Amino acid sequence: MNITTKFDLGDIVYMVSMDSKKATKTCPACSGRGHITLDDGSSVRCPRRCHSGTIQYLEEARWHVDGPYTITQVRVEITESPGVPDAWGDNYEPMSGREESYMCLETGTGSGVVYDLQKGIFATDTEAQAECEKRNAALQEKAGQT
Ligand SMILES: [Zn+2]
Repeated sequence: MNITTKFDLGDIVYMVSMDSKKATKTCPACSGRGHITLDDGSSVRCPRRCHSGTIQYLEEARWHVDGPYTITQVRVEITESPGVPDAWGDNYEPMSGREESYMCLETGTGSGVVYDLQKGIFATDTEAQAECEKRNAALQEKAGQT
């Protein structure tokens, strides 16, 4: 079997990844009151344990470029199974697929960050920046609709 990958060991690459920022919103469980009034008129602290009626969450912020990183591990998983009729379990279902991912010198090899090719890995900073701009524009469009 010959396996061809998009990138090779030692290649310099740029990744696109998402920043998230901490944001707060009104707690939906207590509508921002921080407590809930029971049928007998007594009041208990919000069961969501919100902070005085607000909760924190991570909001998608912006895409940015990480790198340059040096590829030090290539991972490819190719699956092609006809399946086993009448056998029980997901692992005997017919399946096919291909996953390609990489690990880098700068973010850990063997253990560290695994970069999935489908999520966006680029050979140049320019290409990665262009992809970020495209994704950020899409984010802004989505934000404008809500
Ligand atoms: Zn609450």
